[in-house]
Amino acid sequence: GRPVGTRSVKAPVTKIPTAMPGAQKVPLCDKCGNGILGTVVKARDKYRHPECFVCSDCNLNLKQKGYFFVEGQLYCEAHARARMRPPEGYETVTVYPKC
Ligand SMILES: [Zn+2]
Ligand SMILES: [Zn+2]
Repeated sequence: GRPVGTRSVKAPVTKIPTAMPGAQKVPLCDKCGNGILGTVVKARDKYRHPECFVCSDCNLNLKQKGYFFVEGQLYCEAHARARMRPPEGYETVTVYPKC
């Protein structure tokens, strides 16, 4: 007899990088960069852990206090005011209490 050579030709498979179906999309914390499981605090278009929802200056938790965004950073009221620059042409003298 004579050997029969068989060839199996595979059709090219095009892989499209997509999110795995079933894998839950976890929002990433804006402060620490880790995925947030459980309670998510949303501020503007960013997500944070409840424990990461703090003032960038004094680490005061702002969940109950209310928050302020200055140049993409989260601040408590006192530090937001300290960072906000008065509009041009407008001069003001402001005294801030020590935190
Ligand atoms: Zn975090
Ligand atoms: Zn602060």
